[in-house]
Amino acid sequence: MMIDYQELLSEVGRTLRPNVIRKLTALANSGKVISFAAGAPSVDTFPIAEIAEIAIQTVRDKGKAALQYGATRGLGSLLEGVIAIMAERGVRCSADEVVMTTGSQQGLDLIARLLFSPGDIALVELPSYIGGIIALHNGQARMVGVKQDDDGMVIDDLREKLEQAKAQGRRVKCIYTIPNFQNPSGVTLSFERRKALLALADEYDFLIIEDDPYYELYFAEDATELKPLVAMNRERVIYLSSFSKTLAPGLRTAWVVAPKAFSAKIETLKEGADLSSSVFDQAIVAEAIRSGLVAKRLPEIRRFYQVRRDAMLETLERHAPAGARWTKPVGGFFLWMELAGKVDTTEILPQVIERGIAYVPGQPFFVDDGGTNTLRLAYSKESPERIAEGIEMLCNILKQS
Ligand code: PMP
Repeated sequence: MMIDYQELLSEVGRTLRPNVIRKLTALANSGKVISFAAGAPSVDTFPIAEIAEIAIQTVRDKGKAALQYGATRGLGSLLEGVIAIMAERGVRCSADEVVMTTGSQQGLDLIARLLFSPGDIALVELPSYIGGIIALHNGQARMVGVKQDDDGMVIDDLREKLEQAKAQGRRVKCIYTIPNFQNPSGVTLSFERRKALLALADEYDFLIIEDDPYYELYFAEDATELKPLVAMNRERVIYLSSFSKTLAPGLRTAWVVAPKAFSAKIETLKEGADLSSSVFDQAIVAEAIRSGLVAKRLPEIRRFYQVRRDAMLETLERHAPAGARWTKPVGGFFLWMELAGKVDTTEILPQVIERGIAYVPGQPFFVDDGGTNTLRLAYSKESPERIAEGIEMLCNILKQS
């Protein structure tokens, strides 16, 4: 008998969306291509020797605990480390408000599954992080886009979308935002707009999912302007951050801070998902925090990416095609470009890759199918020299398109 697997699938199973960017970056990273597509940290920032030493020590000295199942909420010593990190970001929280997750991606998945019933609205930035869009989609949220400019989400447009939903009798349960050096646009939400967003959350009674994996990667003197929303309002904000960009994404170690009632639900849902995140990985990260390795390397990592951002901006300044606009990120990995005219960045990508350059077309980051003439350029992977070379080549190709 032929089994119809499709027919057996749930609604979520039937409507799964693959992450087009992961497919594309696998392709772009396979050859000799200069890749502005990869959204990952540079492997040159990984403290390989130090992690090797910590890993050996962990197995030798704490092997019985580190190789055993662990608490769903997370390893106690790591929760302590995260609480200290949150205090530096202006948030005093206790262990029952924190849940360690297998990457922030798992946090997004769990939160989406907890919040939404089919048809509930999640507002997302235009453009937004594709992994976040996928998690919300799998959680059966109905996504509505909010415009962004150089200061982040446009508050007037947000209010308009809230009013529209209200007029349709639909519930806006949350807004999903990446306020610092957003993936994909590189834009940072201004302090004024942070306050305005929180005021609207109170007025219209919605939650804010604040996804903040790039917080530490700022290029300015300090992080005063980057104050997390959660530091200004503990009741309305569910905060996520990660060690993927400051240590190594392969450790898959991240955390959620949420009001107690909500973090308890995340813990219960996570129990069914994976019992706990890898205790071994968590023990390594806990020791990396305790020994000062994480904090010590931050200035170096910031400089590392700043030099690459500078190389990209300088080359664009000199060679960009007429009418093109691009963002000027003050941290993170990404810069966003909008081309003049009707160029379709998805359509021209194969020929660009053939000529040795890769980027990610902007369209998949938009929940409203916009952005055909936009692209994301990551400066995280390539050396400053290759960035200069690749951007000049890309600009020349774009001028002919
Ligand atoms: N959120 C954003 C905005 C990201 O850019 C990423 C990683 N690309 C994630 C979440 C997922 O990070 P993690 O490695 O912690 O799962």
